Amino acid sequence: MSLRLLCTKQSLKSIKYSTVIPTVATTTLKLNQLRNFHDTPNKQNTTISNVIPQVPTPSTTTASIPTSSTTTKLPTTEYLKAFNNKELMSFFTIGLCTLNKPILQLCIKLFPYVPMFLIKALVYRIYCGGETIEEVQKTGLRLHERGINNMMISLTIEACDGNDNVDPNYIVAETARSIENILVPHTVKMINQAANVNDIPPGYVAIKPTGFAKDAASVLRNYNTTKKAEFEDLVEKASVVCQTIYESNLKLAKEYPERSAPFVVAVVDAEKYELQEGVYELQRRLYAKFNKMNAPVSIVGTLQMYLTGSAGLLAKEEELANKNGYRLGLKLVRGAYIHSEKNRSTVIHKTKQDTDNNYNTGISYCIDSIMKQQANESTIGHLVVASHNGDSLRLASNKVYTEENKLNKNKTNVVLGQLLGMADSVTYDLIENNKIGNVIKYVAWGPPLETKEYLLRRLEENGDAVKNDNGWPLVKASFWMLMNRMLGRA
Ligand SMILES: Cc1cc2nc3c(=O)[nH]c(=O)nc-3n(C[C@H](O)[C@H](O)[C@H](O)COP(=O)(O)OP(=O)(O)OC[C@H]3O[C@@H](n4cnc5c(N)ncnc54)[C@H](O)[C@@H]3O)c2cc1C
Repeated sequence: MSLRLLCTKQSLKSIKYSTVIPTVATTTLKLNQLRNFHDTPNKQNTTISNVIPQVPTPSTTTASIPTSSTTTKLPTTEYLKAFNNKELMSFFTIGLCTLNKPILQLCIKLFPYVPMFLIKALVYRIYCGGETIEEVQKTGLRLHERGINNMMISLTIEACDGNDNVDPNYIVAETARSIENILVPHTVKMINQAANVNDIPPGYVAIKPTGFAKDAASVLRNYNTTKKAEFEDLVEKASVVCQTIYESNLKLAKEYPERSAPFVVAVVDAEKYELQEGVYELQRRLYAKFNKMNAPVSIVGTLQMYLTGSAGLLAKEEELANKNGYRLGLKLVRGAYIHSEKNRSTVIHKTKQDTDNNYNTGISYCIDSIMKQQANESTIGHLVVASHNGDSLRLASNKVYTEENKLNKNKTNVVLGQLLGMADSVTYDLIENNKIGNVIKYVAWGPPLETKEYLLRRLEENGDAVKNDNGWPLVKASFWMLMNRMLGRA
C-alpha cells in the first residue's frame, strides 16, 4: 500500500515502517477497505467514495486484516453471562441511550444535568472500577474470573484543563498507594496462579498529566517558556510515581527472574492536542530516567494515531531513544478528543479509514520490531494495543500468536487493552474464542463526581464504538439475559 497515504512526506523519509508485513489472514486490507462501511462499526465521514482512492496496489502488502465478516461477527450474548443483574440494567440503559445518533446526542446534552445518584445507579458501575482501593481490588478479581488477568488502573479525578479543586500532591500519593495496594499484589497473585510467569500481562497505572499540576493546561502548553519551573515540578511529581513502579519491577525481577515483560508499568495518558507537546516532553524525561537499555520498560507513553503527524512522531521517538540510549514503551490509541478538537481539519486524519490505516500500520510496525528481537533488546520494548476495534485487535494477535513466535518470550510485551465497560464482546471473543491471554482492561476509579467527564467521553465514544455492543442489539441482549435469569433459564 502507498505509505504516502499514511505518513507525511517528512515521516516517510525517516520512518522505518516495514513495507512487507506477513499475510496472516485470507483477506487483505484491500478487501477490507471495499466492504460496506455502513455495516461496519465506525463510519463517520467514511464512505465508499472516499475510501476507494486509497485502495492499495496489489504489488505491495500491508497490515493484513481479517474480513469484516469474520471479525465483526461477535459472540451472541454469551459475554453478558459474566455480569450481575444491576450491571445488565446498566447495559440496558446504555443500549437505550445509543439507539441512534439523535438519541445519543440528546443524552450527551442532558448528561451534565443528570443527578449524581442516577449516574451512579445507572452507568458508573460498568465504566468505573470503584471509589476505593478495596473496591478496585475486587474489580481485579472479577475481571480475573472473566480471564482478564490484569488492569490499567487510573485514578480519574479529571478535567482536561486540570482540576484545581484537587491537590496534585494528593493525586501523587493516592496513585503511589494504588500501585502498592492494588497493582503489585494483584500482579503477584495472578503470576502465582499461572502456569508460566510470562502468561500474565503487567499491571499498569495511568498517569494523567493534567492531574499533576495546578493550572495544568497552562503548564503543559507553556512548558518550555513561561512555565518552566512549574513543568519541572510536574515532571518531579510524575517521577515519584514512576520511581515506585521502577523499584517494584527491580524487586519482583529478583523473585521471578524468568519473566521478560515488566511486572508493573506507568502509562502516560494522551490529552487533547494543544497539550501534547508538553506531554511528549514529560514522556521523554520519564523514558530517559526509567527505561534502561536491555531491561524491561517501566514507562509507556501514548501516541494518538488519529493525528496526521503521528507516524512522523513515532519515527522521531525511536530516533530520540536510540540517540539518548533508552527504550520506548508505547500505547497506541486512535484518540479520544475528536469531538472537542478545535483544529480537527488540520491535526486529525480526514477520514476514519485514514486513521484506521495509520493505526494498523503503527501497531504492525511496533509488533514487528518487538518480536524480531530477543527479550529486551529492541528499542521499542513494550506495546499496548489500546483499542476496541476488532479488526485492529485481530491484526495484532494474528501477528503475535504465530507458530513461528511460539517460543518467543517477547509475546508478553504486546498487550491488548480495552476500557472497562466498553467492547466487552470483543474482549470475550479474544479470550474465549482466540485464547489470547494478554488482555487487560483500563479501570478508571475514584469519586463518582470527579469521574463525570470521563463518563461523558465514554458516552460520546459509544457513538463511535462497535455497534454490536450498543444500541438495539445491547437492549435486546441485556433484556433477554435478565428475562432468562428471572425464569431460571440462565
Ligand atoms: C486502554 C485504553 C486506553 C486509552 N487511553 C487513551 C489516551 O490516553 N488518550 C486518548 O486520547 N484516548 C485514549 N483511549 C481512547 C481511544 O483513543 C479511542 O478513542 C477509543 O479506543 C476508540 O477507538 P478504537 O481504537 O477503539 O476504534 P474505533 O472505535 O474503531 O475508532 C473510533 C476512533 O476512530 C477515530 N475516528 C472516528 N471518526 C473519525 C474520522 N471521521 N476521521 C478520523 N478519525 C476518526 C477517533 O479516534 C475515534 O475515537 C484509550 C482507549 C483504550 C482502550
